[in-house]
Amino acid sequence: MLTDTPGIHHVTSMVGDAQANLEFYVEALGLRLVKRTVNHQDVLRYHLYYGNGAGDLGTVYTCFPYPNEPPGRRGRPQITATAFAVPEDALDYWADRLATRGVDAERVDRFDESALRFEDPAGTRLELVADDQPVEPWAGSPVPERAAIRGVHGVTMLPTNPFATASVLDTLGLELVGEAGDRVRYRAGGDHATVVDLLDRDAGFAREGVGSVHHVAFRVADADELREWHDLFRERDIEVSRIRDRHYYQAIYVREPGGILIELSTESPGFGVDEDESAFGQSLVLPPWAEEDRGMIEDQLPPLDVPRVGRDGDGGGDSNGDGDA
Ligand code: ZN
Repeated sequence: MLTDTPGIHHVTSMVGDAQANLEFYVEALGLRLVKRTVNHQDVLRYHLYYGNGAGDLGTVYTCFPYPNEPPGRRGRPQITATAFAVPEDALDYWADRLATRGVDAERVDRFDESALRFEDPAGTRLELVADDQPVEPWAGSPVPERAAIRGVHGVTMLPTNPFATASVLDTLGLELVGEAGDRVRYRAGGDHATVVDLLDRDAGFAREGVGSVHHVAFRVADADELREWHDLFRERDIEVSRIRDRHYYQAIYVREPGGILIELSTESPGFGVDEDESAFGQSLVLPPWAEEDRGMIEDQLPPLDVPRVGRDGDGGGDSNGDGDA
C-alpha cells in the first residue's frame, strides 16, 4: 500500500567552485555542512550536503561542484527556484544580511506569503519565504536563531507539460491548494518542506549546467515502498531508474513526462550512518565501495576550507558545533 509523501527529502543543484559554494551556504545562509562526500556517479567530484544541525530530512540542500562546466540556461523543463523557510518577521534581517554581502535580493509576494529572491555564487535562484516551519535551526549558525533558516520550504518547477507534472504530483499525494496567475501551488501533507509551485509559462529550452537545480527528492518511508513506487511508474510507462543505494538513503529517479527529474528517497538510514552528528562535515566520507580508492580520491579533489562560524556577536565559534553549544 503506497502512502502519500510527507514532503521534500532534499534538493540538489549543480554549482561551480566548491569553496565559494561552501562559504556562501555556511557563512551567508547559516546552514551547517552536514556531509562532505563525493558524487556516486563520479567519485572525483565533491557532493556537499547542507542542512540544519541534525541534517533532518526536508532541511537538506546538496550541491555538485562542477568548476569547469558552462553555466546552465533557465527555461523548460527545469526546477527554477528553491525556497528556504525563515521566521515570519525575518525578511528585513535577511535583506540587510544579503545586502552587506553584495547579494541583490528582490522582494516578491505571492499567495499569502512574502519572500526574498536572490542568487547564490553559481547563479542558482534561491528564495527565503516567511513561513514559521516547525524545524530546529542549526545551533552553530552565524545567523541569530530568530532569523535562522527553518529548512527547505519548497521548489518552483517550470515543466514542458504542467498537466503531466501535476498528475505525477497528484500520484505522489500532493494536493492542489492555490492558483495565482500562471503559478499553481501543490502541497504535501507533512509539516515542513511541502510546497511545489508549477509554472504554466512559455520559455525556451533549459540547459543543465552551473546554477541549475538537478532534481528534487521526495520522502518515502522505506525500501518496500520504494519498490512499489518503482513498479507503479514502470507500469505507467514513466521513465524510472532501478533502485540505487545512496548510502544515506535508497533512491529511484523518475523523469516525469513534464521533463522534471524527481527522486524518491527513503527516510533511513540517514546521515548518522557513517558519522556521529557532532562530527558532521568535518572530514571526507566515502561510500564503503569507494574506500579502497580513498588515497587517489583525496589527491584529486581540491582542498576545502570549512568556514569556522558562530552566532553573530559571540566572537566566532566552532562550525562543527553539534547543537549543545
Ligand atoms: Zn538526490
